[in-house]
Amino acid sequence: MLLDATLADLGEPKFRAGQVREWLLRGVRGYDGMTNIPSPLRAELAARVPFTTLELVTEATAQDGTVKALFRTTDGHAVESVLMRYKDGRRSICVSSQSGCPLTCTFCATGQMKFGRNLTPFEILDQALHFRRKEEINHCVFMGMGEPLINFDNVMASIAYLPEVGITHRRTTISTVGWLPNLKRFIDEVEIPVRLAISVHAPDAELRQKLMPINERYPLSEVIAECRRYVAVRRQKVFIEYVMLSGVNDRPDQAQALVKLLGRTDFKVNLIPYNPTGGIYDGSSRERIEAFQNELTKGGVPATTRLTRGRDIQAACGQLAAERTPAA
Ligand code: SAH
Repeated sequence: MLLDATLADLGEPKFRAGQVREWLLRGVRGYDGMTNIPSPLRAELAARVPFTTLELVTEATAQDGTVKALFRTTDGHAVESVLMRYKDGRRSICVSSQSGCPLTCTFCATGQMKFGRNLTPFEILDQALHFRRKEEINHCVFMGMGEPLINFDNVMASIAYLPEVGITHRRTTISTVGWLPNLKRFIDEVEIPVRLAISVHAPDAELRQKLMPINERYPLSEVIAECRRYVAVRRQKVFIEYVMLSGVNDRPDQAQALVKLLGRTDFKVNLIPYNPTGGIYDGSSRERIEAFQNELTKGGVPATTRLTRGRDIQAACGQLAAERTPAA
């Protein structure tokens, strides 16, 4: 990469690249902060190697402390990320793996945008570093824009750096619709203990197809079968994401069908209050969500309801860069 090439060009010793990288991953704010690098070299690097691949466009902080950042890549693609701050000290970042998304889930704001492209490993990492420059961060979810398993290699390359940023692999979660070819690779090839979350959103294929057209290509039953293989190989439960849409997928009998589909041992369900995106869906009421959760618990399936963060700044999931980017 450019950093290594520039250091070689300047005749610098090999260890310099490592020094620079270490500073970066620890959240240094600029080349000037790299105090063990001679200052003429810092100036040279500042002139020749861009400090980050992302330009910050806007940033907003919600009343609950959630921070949403909108960036632009050097070729003008929108990238959005969120930092969630919890009372127990947890600092969780939600990052994008693509600008836009090629999938067309009907309830998702990103799905209605024009697809840009896969992000590079450094464009993914620089989202984390942006927040690391503010404070320590310790969890990362790939739940921003894009389908991480379509951009498998770049996502895995970015994850390799995260422990040095403060985020262990066990505290890193990839969320996917179940993009089967790379879900298989994730199970068979990846040895680090990254967590897996699957966007299910319906207990049956017919309804899932309406919400997530990708279900036609990669059907729910096959995705669930792969998840069971993951559980057997990793001895780690899979998280099931289920966004609660009023009158669509929130009936008690649908909760019972979900119990039947998942069983008691392999999965943990996370119910997601829906953030309306101006489309055709409304979010389920709190009572409906509670009743659905009770039905799952009664059936022996562990279930929680996700806390909604950053609503007042449109930082809730699925609302990433959409409002600033014209629809396709
Ligand atoms: N493509 C991946 C990751 C990005 S979406 C995936 O689908 O899993 C991350 C999660 O946010 C998914 O579960 C998605 O269904 C959910 N989501 C999308 N739009 C939403 C909205 N408006 N309100 C609540 N959750 C939403």
